[in-house]
Amino acid sequence: MNEEQRLASQQVKQPKPEKDYSSYFERVVTAAPSLKDAKKRGKEEVKYHKDFAIDEEFLGMGQGRKFYIRTYGCQMNEHDSEVMAGIFTQLGYEPTHLIEEADVVLLNTCAIRENAENKVFGELGFLVKYKRKNPEMLIGVCGCMSQEESVVNKILTTYQHVDMVFGTHNIHRLPHILKEAYMSKEMVIEVWSKEGDVIESLPKQRNGAIKAWVNIMYGCDKFCTYCIVPYTRGKERSRRPDEIIQEVRDLAAQGYQEIMLLGQNVNAYGKDFADIEYRLGDLMDELRKIDIPRIRFTTSHPRDFDDHLIEVLAKKGNLVEHIHLPVQSGSNDILKIMARKYTREHFLDLVRKIKAAIPDVALTTDIIVGYPNETEEQFQETIDLYREVGFETAFTYIYSPREGTPAAKMQDNVPLEVKKERLQRLNAVVEEFSSAALKKYEGEIVEVLVEGSSKKRDDVLAGYTRRNKLVNFAGPQELVGQIVKVKILEAKSYSLRGEFVEIVNRHEVEV
Ligand code: SF4
Repeated sequence: MNEEQRLASQQVKQPKPEKDYSSYFERVVTAAPSLKDAKKRGKEEVKYHKDFAIDEEFLGMGQGRKFYIRTYGCQMNEHDSEVMAGIFTQLGYEPTHLIEEADVVLLNTCAIRENAENKVFGELGFLVKYKRKNPEMLIGVCGCMSQEESVVNKILTTYQHVDMVFGTHNIHRLPHILKEAYMSKEMVIEVWSKEGDVIESLPKQRNGAIKAWVNIMYGCDKFCTYCIVPYTRGKERSRRPDEIIQEVRDLAAQGYQEIMLLGQNVNAYGKDFADIEYRLGDLMDELRKIDIPRIRFTTSHPRDFDDHLIEVLAKKGNLVEHIHLPVQSGSNDILKIMARKYTREHFLDLVRKIKAAIPDVALTTDIIVGYPNETEEQFQETIDLYREVGFETAFTYIYSPREGTPAAKMQDNVPLEVKKERLQRLNAVVEEFSSAALKKYEGEIVEVLVEGSSKKRDDVLAGYTRRNKLVNFAGPQELVGQIVKVKILEAKSYSLRGEFVEIVNRHEVEV
């Protein structure tokens, strides 16, 4: 069926799967996901493609059409959505914030927790009504969930109004996938289980002009037993330093004020380079010299956090005094079952080194409670470690199994009630430390990067300090995008209230 015929059609045309499901699967799937294949780590060299360009045959494909992307999950996904928005724009599509106006709807999904997946399935069900109203609308599922065969099977059998499913390694193939979906009457599925190469020069439609995300590496080789990411994002592949440095320079020239360097385990940056000895500390030391006020990174893994990086971060300048350092548990037994590959002692030693080098550092963390076999004593060790480190805040979670991970095969023997009760106790400690950390700012003058109006009031501005504290203060809109000094008047539960003092002269910002 050609595109014209398709446009003339008034019905949803996904064929019903036949009883022999596997033959149906073979027919529509050009590349199927496999967590088993995704687990493999080969020695093949990563290929770098420097100059991505969209084939001329696709240009203009989006003329008169609009796209809508809904993003779930982490900053990596947010940034992938910026890349897809960039590709759509080059194809001639326009963005829309209204699903009912969209010609293509993409759900960029997250597989980290079961409830994140349930939300996506709920949304897919909800999209049926839009598809009924506009049968020409293309609906696509991408992101981490697409890498799971169980998800793709469920979409094939239950959500037949979906037109395309593509994986995290197939984003640059979006023009081909769209073309295929316009031409085909069947669901287009293209999910590579083996990680892709590193592709440079992908177009990006960035959200906002103040802060920007920059990927420094892709994938993860840590295989923590609870985590699906090494399967959905492939093996560790670092971008070459010169590409990253140039991207940050370009963003600085465009007026961006803050860069967030992204990777699933940024501390493994450079481990995969065969030709050079170059790690995250080396990269940060180069980025430090670029004239941009702030550089952050996420997420760290304690095992790969080396002394050279600490040494470089201690030079400060545009390298901020905030480190997010996920510990997950304070018990050696649980850390072992999690395969985190460090001990409580190693973690505390690392914290001591960081604090010695950067005395005003703000440390934050992630913690999972109720891991299989976690005893009350082991949980208590997590609380003790939290107090000993004095984290300023934390993301806390109840353990939930992810299909395909080693932990999912363990007996989940901590009753839900106990998990909930532990989470409550942990959160009470987190709040105690968060309010104490905020209270310390009362009377201080801090530097705030103003991001816009506060959520509640237009005449109140909001922004973050170098140590990642949210500050609200009254001030004119002209301050948005600038770094200003604010005197802190009051510590609230999760933020600070202050009054505007003055704009920070760019040359005063130490870079
Ligand atoms: S290091 Fe992070 S992304 Fe990698 S497996 Fe562990 S939790 Fe998942």
